[in-house]
Amino acid sequence: MIANSIDAKIALEEAREEYAANNPKSRERHVEACTVLPGGNTRTVLFYPPFPLTMVRGKDSRLWDADDHEYIDLLGEYTAGLYGHSNPAIRAAIEKALDGGIDRGSQNGLEAKLAAVLCARFPSLDFVRFTNSGTEANLMAISAARAITRRTKVLVFDGAYHGGVFSFAGGGNRINAPFEFVVASYNDLDPTMDLLQRNTKDLAAVIIEPMMGAGGCIPADKSFLQALRDATREHGIFLIFDEVMTSRLSPSGLQGRHGILPDITTLGKYIGGGMTCGAFGGRAEIMQYFDARQANAFPHAGTFNNNVLTMSAGLAGMSIYTPEAAEQLNARGDRLRRRLNDLVKKEGVKMQFTGTGSMLNVHMCTGPIRNPAEAAKADKDLADLFFFDLVAQGFWLARRGMIVLSLPNTDAECDQFAGAVEEFVATRRPLLAA
Ligand code: PLP
Repeated sequence: MIANSIDAKIALEEAREEYAANNPKSRERHVEACTVLPGGNTRTVLFYPPFPLTMVRGKDSRLWDADDHEYIDLLGEYTAGLYGHSNPAIRAAIEKALDGGIDRGSQNGLEAKLAAVLCARFPSLDFVRFTNSGTEANLMAISAARAITRRTKVLVFDGAYHGGVFSFAGGGNRINAPFEFVVASYNDLDPTMDLLQRNTKDLAAVIIEPMMGAGGCIPADKSFLQALRDATREHGIFLIFDEVMTSRLSPSGLQGRHGILPDITTLGKYIGGGMTCGAFGGRAEIMQYFDARQANAFPHAGTFNNNVLTMSAGLAGMSIYTPEAAEQLNARGDRLRRRLNDLVKKEGVKMQFTGTGSMLNVHMCTGPIRNPAEAAKADKDLADLFFFDLVAQGFWLARRGMIVLSLPNTDAECDQFAGAVEEFVATRRPLLAA
């Protein structure tokens, strides 16, 4: 065991050295960036030592880095890149928008069209409002819940990620929004219900991803979600489903798949066609607080809330991601996950792939993973090794092991990925003994 972990560290060190030697131009870009950006970046998730790759070009399902290596993109911009790079319909929509002039300082008509598509698609949405990011959508949803209920606390889950100021991994983030958070354990029914019952008078909202995305692609049990739905309804607490990532996992999000409707839903990522976006919405009696025709409505401003480029790209995108396209993509993801899990099981190695549909996450351990605390028991050096080995084989994925299928990814690319995982298992077998 100890010998294995020492070997994993040595193997990882070697893999990093090889990576650095193969990517001199990305290293140069990183060194330059470090002179003006702290740590060389403006988006923490993208950093990893020794330095992150700089991707300079993308087409369909492919990316090229600064040293001109080609990759199969299996990250899909952390789910926002659903349409692949330079999708012609989205490109045409953006060009048309540019021709009509952007930044008009007015209603542009497109916001109502995209809102209509979202309200038709996601069953909990009677009305929706747009923001510039998923973080901002969650900020608005939580702020509205607190203002409407006149309560202060928000129940969140350990290891959850709801945006740059709503990060609950590793004990929380010191720059989180200054709300009073009560932290429960995901999929842990009795302790969660105890915590909720002890705070019913103070809780404004419970916010949950129906499958944790950044937390490791860990699906919530339907019974857990249903229990939260029942308890929040009983006590007048708002249930917020953060479907920023998971809304792509069925034609009507995971809320539609489970038939469990939250009070407020937040959205983001792909709904803007790959452009900056976010949205929050819900039942009419909640969203009417934002109706500016009413005295005392909540003001909700935002220069770019209805920006023409996002609205245009979003509309084009949603017409590509039809319910049939959603079914097909998620079925492809399910097939890939089953195949990978069959492979690692057959080989008897300490690896598994969690997730739902088009979102997967590798974990270097066996046994059930029902929340981030259980996922944290997996071997982190081996996860890093997996990342560097797969990058060396020409696959782009998240360093934390998240793999996301996008529309242009083909079955042949899934085959290639499965082959690369097989090769990883064969090469690293001594380190992966279960
Ligand atoms: N909520 C979830 C579940 C997310 O995964 C993310 C981003 O990864 C966010 C919210 C924040 O979205 P954004 O990065 O657009 O602020």
